[in-house]
Amino acid sequence: MTAVPQERRVVTAIPGPKSQELQARRTAAVAQGVGSVLPVFTARAGGGIIEDVDGNRLIDFGSGIAVTSVGNSAEAVVRRASAQLQDFTHTCFMITPYEGYVAVAEALAELTPGDHAKKSALFNSGAEAVENAVKIARSFTRRQAVVVFDHGYHGRTNLTMALTSKNMPYKQGFGPFAPEVYRMPMAYGYRWPTGPQNAGPEAAAQAIDQITKQIGPENVAAIIVEPVLGEGGFIEPAKGFLPALREFATGHGIVFVADEIQSGFCRTGQWFACEDEGIVPDLITTAKGIAGGLPLAAVTGRAEIMDAAHAGGLGGTYGGNPVACAGALGAIETMKELDLNARAKAIEATMKPRLSAMAEKFEIIGDVRGRGAMIAIELVKDRTTKEPNPEATSALAGACHQEGLLVLTCGTYGNVLRFLPPLVIGEDLLGEGLDIIEQAFTRI
Ligand SMILES: *Cc1c(COP(=O)(O)O)cnc(C)c1O
Repeated sequence: MTAVPQERRVVTAIPGPKSQELQARRTAAVAQGVGSVLPVFTARAGGGIIEDVDGNRLIDFGSGIAVTSVGNSAEAVVRRASAQLQDFTHTCFMITPYEGYVAVAEALAELTPGDHAKKSALFNSGAEAVENAVKIARSFTRRQAVVVFDHGYHGRTNLTMALTSKNMPYKQGFGPFAPEVYRMPMAYGYRWPTGPQNAGPEAAAQAIDQITKQIGPENVAAIIVEPVLGEGGFIEPAKGFLPALREFATGHGIVFVADEIQSGFCRTGQWFACEDEGIVPDLITTAKGIAGGLPLAAVTGRAEIMDAAHAGGLGGTYGGNPVACAGALGAIETMKELDLNARAKAIEATMKPRLSAMAEKFEIIGDVRGRGAMIAIELVKDRTTKEPNPEATSALAGACHQEGLLVLTCGTYGNVLRFLPPLVIGEDLLGEGLDIIEQAFTRI
């Protein structure tokens, strides 16, 4: 397998004829509920480039939703996963265990915040990890209520749909949802009525007041929060919000769960985004970036909490699959060797000034935010009213796609353009991607 050339190339319409042929087959065979941002079919990918079946090379500002942070088919991931494939593909860790699973749990204990004794359990998807964090927290506290936040996203299974804030497309028509889930205000600085400087303390005070009045802290098993919100719009909870909730949880014996599935593994320039305000979660859920594209997820946390569930109470046929574990060890090795935390900060240092300069020129940019290589712009119709502008957001994304730059959108109002480049992307591709975004603004 030769390395994918690190240059953008658009040789057909996007999507091209071969992609369109495959799309026709797909439409006939694949359920329409499974969507695609851009129906170009992938031939190969690596570094900052996705090459499609028509020979187009797209600059990748999506990383498969913050998954291929170490790049696609990263050398260490392929090497370790291939070796594992030769040895054995599966035994089920619950039947006969293997070292890779244990090594991933050890790495998670080392890398996650806090120097307390930690244990992990491995699963296949982010949603499965979040569900298990709830099971573990309920088992430990012998309480039922779970607190989540406005704009939060935690997955598509029944319990995680209940935890997720946004109805369309995640929940519409899929109820009834799991009970004992309570949603509290999020410190969304840009949209906080009294301004971003007040958002942290005020949102925390409101949340704590509502938990106290509506649920009773003694009934709360877990508070689950994304330290930087992903699907909800790359919202960084305003300063002070997370520490206040962490303190409240400690005071009431509530398990504080950081959902770092999107924000973890060097994405924000730290191993985990909660480190930014010195937060030490009781449990942390990880997935996406953990294994360089292989399906793996984990719950990691205080040993006494993790051990609360009875033997046999946690698991699953494939959870911690040996090939996925080998991939994770390769991804973590790559993150350390290439110092991808530093790389994420360098990406921020390139992107933020360029996007802020665009915000001076283009009135529809209401906010530029994010950390590391998790950066977004929020688009509005009017800076004073802050009325969301989802139309311009999809027009911009479409314009970027036509030029061979893959960008994603997100946000409760569908008006956030988000950038999640692989952390190994070259500076030249990063700069070229930013040029394309700027031209797209001029064009629409
Ligand atoms: C993607 C995501 C999930 C769900 O992960 P899946 O692997 O898609 O099940 C949960 N929480 C957050 C914060 C996510 O970004």
